[in-house]
Amino acid sequence: MACIDCNKNIGYDAFKYSTETLGVELCERHTRLIEKVIIENDTPIEAVQLFYALKEAGANPMLEWWDGHKSVDIAISRVKLNIEIDTDYQMITHEQAINDLEEAMHSFKNGFTTIRIPHVVIKYYLKDTVTNILGIIQGLKANIKVI
Ligand SMILES: [Zn+2]
Repeated sequence: MACIDCNKNIGYDAFKYSTETLGVELCERHTRLIEKVIIENDTPIEAVQLFYALKEAGANPMLEWWDGHKSVDIAISRVKLNIEIDTDYQMITHEQAINDLEEAMHSFKNGFTTIRIPHVVIKYYLKDTVTNILGIIQGLKANIKVI
């Protein structure tokens, strides 16, 4: 068993604790760091799981990236892709919907693409989610070259 962040060998206790609370294998130091990020930003644990899955896939993601206005759950800065994890998708209100649209407008104006992913998709289809995001990254890269 090894930490998926620093590759340090971890004992059973660290393995059990990190997988039960965060759903990823982390050493004690990285568990503490991620827990701090979660407390400070109200980060869904699915964002942590997707972050590490994308990192493993070589996408160079950043967790809770500050875009100047707000913290983005996951950002792929090289292609200006922002990924937000929605945890209460079914209960979206009209105020929230118009706020989301306005946010989308601002990020497009600044050259960013924002995608919103319901947390259950990460829970049930983590691999497919990663495959699709890698495809989006490739598409964005191609578009950047064209411009
Ligand atoms: Zn570690």
